[in-house]
Amino acid sequence: MDPTHQAGRTGQAERGSRRTGGEPDRAGDPRRALPKVDSLLAHPRLVERLGVWGRPLLTTMARRALDEARASLAGGGQPPPLDALAGAVSDALDRLTSGRVRAVVNATGVVLHTNLGRAPLSAQALEAVKAAAGYSTVEFDLTTGERGKRGSTVSALLRELTGAEAALAVNNAAAALMLILGAFARDREVIVSRGELVEIGGEFRIPSILEAAGANLVEVGATNRTHLADYASAIGKRTALILVVHPSNYRIEGFTAQPALADLVELAGAHRLPLVHDLGSGLLRGRLGDEPALDESLSAGVDLAVFSGDKLFGGPQAGLVVGRGELVARLARHPIARAVRIDKLTLAALEATLLTHLSGRPDDLPVLRMLAVPLDELRRRAERLATGLGERAKVREGTGVVGGGSLPTERLPSVVVEITPLGLTETAVVSGLRAADPPVIVRTERGRVLVDLRTVPPEQDDLVLRSLQEIMSAR
Ligand SMILES: *Cc1c(COP(=O)(O)O)cnc(C)c1O
Repeated sequence: MDPTHQAGRTGQAERGSRRTGGEPDRAGDPRRALPKVDSLLAHPRLVERLGVWGRPLLTTMARRALDEARASLAGGGQPPPLDALAGAVSDALDRLTSGRVRAVVNATGVVLHTNLGRAPLSAQALEAVKAAAGYSTVEFDLTTGERGKRGSTVSALLRELTGAEAALAVNNAAAALMLILGAFARDREVIVSRGELVEIGGEFRIPSILEAAGANLVEVGATNRTHLADYASAIGKRTALILVVHPSNYRIEGFTAQPALADLVELAGAHRLPLVHDLGSGLLRGRLGDEPALDESLSAGVDLAVFSGDKLFGGPQAGLVVGRGELVARLARHPIARAVRIDKLTLAALEATLLTHLSGRPDDLPVLRMLAVPLDELRRRAERLATGLGERAKVREGTGVVGGGSLPTERLPSVVVEITPLGLTETAVVSGLRAADPPVIVRTERGRVLVDLRTVPPEQDDLVLRSLQEIMSAR
């Protein structure tokens, strides 16, 4: 809010109030008893906040509270006490600022918690972000002293890591898809299986992304079964590409069929069409439920593979595209690429994450470390926590989920501390934990509070214990 604008409004309100006073000013008009902005700001409740948030913001808030009080006094009544006015200013400030991004302790056990920022960054990535935040070599070549190319190291590292011919990093995976569709499929057709027209979250639906990019969707097959022949018969003169999307967050089970990726690659190749594979999560190799692994996608021969820089890749949110050199080069030159380019902080975090993957120390990435934490270790930590909480806590086996729209049906065996809040509702405990500093986020189940330490860095175990003890002894 612009304080000058506010000041103007206050002026008007004051003139207005004199006018609406109409009859001669009565000395008893309660509006005249309202304090001046400066006296309100001198209230003990606001003095400290003035130090934190500064005069312009608090002045705006104080003027607004006084305006409101003045308006409600227009019909007569008693002016609110100074304490109440200061309280109103303070509450308004809380409403404005309490939603800002703050660090929390994630004790839900959901490793890729969509609402808690998905992947936490590694120590190396954090360090890199800090270094990049000031002046840094984002587009500067230290060897020649000339202009460098943003993202060239990320591309080189991605090529090393994946063995792909070329690579490009943009803001997020949705942006990467927009770029690919906008560059290759504008006013042309894109073939997608009916079982893959997924909503990834919020506004991200595959059909809407296609539409927004100006591509025409050609749906093939049925929700549960799509065959190679369905794709083959949909190919025509206006076909731009075949898009294969991993339905990250849901599963179709039972009577299902989907052609092998390699067969689709062959079909696309025979028609000189690119095959684009949106993997969602960046699982590099190996098995994790039925997440597609990047190495398998590339060895099946897809032309472009798209995946997230966070999720299972364990880095910052980014959209990573790897594949055929000629296609990636066209993407990099496209105007949409400039609109969705990654900023220097993401770039730095991504470089560090890629180097960690390349170093063969995946345990340095919190996401991979947390997914792989041994149950014995979890049990030991859970028992310490339960001991500190006494009779109301017990340790039991539980199941977690990976989260972040990955592995929806995969259960992650875990060990949880189950707390029966004696004399308190579980809601009171949960909201008490949210109000702690730092806030602690937990799950509940049938009146019990569940703490899963899988997602808590061990050095924060004590902090979780203390927050719980404080809330439960305060009743
Ligand atoms: C998560 C996901 C995306 C979107 O990734 P963002 O980085 O959040 O944009 C796209 N496609 C699939 C299949 C996904 O699972």
